[in-house]
Amino acid sequence: MRILVQKFGGTSVNAPEKRARVIHHVRRAMEEGYRVVVVVSAMGRRGEPYATDTLLDLVRDEEGVLLPPRERDLLMHCGEIIAGAVLVADFARAGLKARLLTGGQAGIVTDNEHTNAHIVSINPKRIRDELEKCDVVIVTGFQGQTAEGEITTLGRGGSDTTATALGVALRAEYVDIFTDVDGVMTADPRIVEDARPLSTVTFYEVCNMAYQGAKVIHPRAVEIAMQTNTPIRIRSTFSDDPGTLVTSVAEKNRIATEFRDRPITGIAYVANITQIKVPAPEGEYDVHLKVFKAMAEHHISVDFINVNPTGVVYTVADEEAERAAAILREMGFSPQLVPHCAKVSAIGAGMAGVPGVMAMITEALTEEDIPILQSADSHTTIWVLVRQEDMVRAVRALHRKFNLHKIGAQEAEAACCSDD
Ligand code: ADP
Ligand code: ASP
Ligand code: MG
Repeated sequence: MRILVQKFGGTSVNAPEKRARVIHHVRRAMEEGYRVVVVVSAMGRRGEPYATDTLLDLVRDEEGVLLPPRERDLLMHCGEIIAGAVLVADFARAGLKARLLTGGQAGIVTDNEHTNAHIVSINPKRIRDELEKCDVVIVTGFQGQTAEGEITTLGRGGSDTTATALGVALRAEYVDIFTDVDGVMTADPRIVEDARPLSTVTFYEVCNMAYQGAKVIHPRAVEIAMQTNTPIRIRSTFSDDPGTLVTSVAEKNRIATEFRDRPITGIAYVANITQIKVPAPEGEYDVHLKVFKAMAEHHISVDFINVNPTGVVYTVADEEAERAAAILREMGFSPQLVPHCAKVSAIGAGMAGVPGVMAMITEALTEEDIPILQSADSHTTIWVLVRQEDMVRAVRALHRKFNLHKIGAQEAEAACCSDD
């Protein structure tokens, strides 16, 4: 059985004409000889009746969502069930027999970390049996069930994880992630007008982009597919274009000559973070130990860490900043806060060992008078911290500096490093 998993995001299923596109893609795949498993997200975004955020808004007040995590999962998982049931009706109208399964019915077993559960096993037998009996199986994304039968969800954006996990369990030829953009783009098209779709990216690159804020796919979904080299295609629901193929480094080098020698594949950003500097008091050498232990004890997630003899610098989410500062003051430190910052990342598997990448980044930001508050790098990513008000200009400046606006699916020419 040649299986294809096709996941449709919330903005692909919130209107009848969009769901007609879902049916179109499924039919095409069936004509190509595939058996199709559809994974569906809740319909639409915040404000639309059955979107996940709309459901959460039902129980939100000034203090936030006060529902315990177990019941929050019960509330949130309804969104995907509604979307799946509506799709079954649409398929029936189109003359196709669809069978809807919840995450638990589809054999997805998770741990019991409510609202952010991890998949521990999948038994795909029920899906395989249903595929024998009907035209298409629809699985509600984002959800699973513990061994004890409790309903769980997989973290926001988790339908992507359902899709790749099912793809691996079913040994699917591809996992198609259908969304509202043409594929993985060189930057978020919402803020960079001339962002270009990439024809091929490696698992590592897209995983990094996703961790650094590119919402187009959930990083955990990529990690799962990467383990078995299951190829992912990120595609637009609204076109028949092939989208972006996410694959291994070797495969990418074989098929995508346009990527050779290109240091940067994309620019991503995360907003709403606060930089915290804790100067070391005279003669104290274990400030980092005390600070990070305290942050861990209070479950405050830290990032962008820099330890040096004069003190420590790190970032937290804006909404955690005041709590973190109060803890530090209580400990006798004098933290300095820079709220409303953004982390901008330049990502590319090709940057390792290439001289001059950081020079280009600093040049691009200096030309725009954007101060760099902090920086860090790995062999595939360079991060800079900037003030949030500079974020959009910083993303655009880096995008242009690395000529990412010139990337085209057909362009065989490497676009790197020229200044024109
Ligand atoms: P879905 O509901 O289909 O899961 P998401 O909103 O989760 O859709 O993800 C798609 C969105 O990701 C796009 O609308 C786009 O604005 C955003 N995005 C951010 N960075 C990128 C990028 N580098 N490439 C493509 N899309 C991106
Ligand atoms: N509906 C869920 C969310 O909004 C899961 C998803 O869309 O992937 O997070
Ligand atoms: Mg998504």
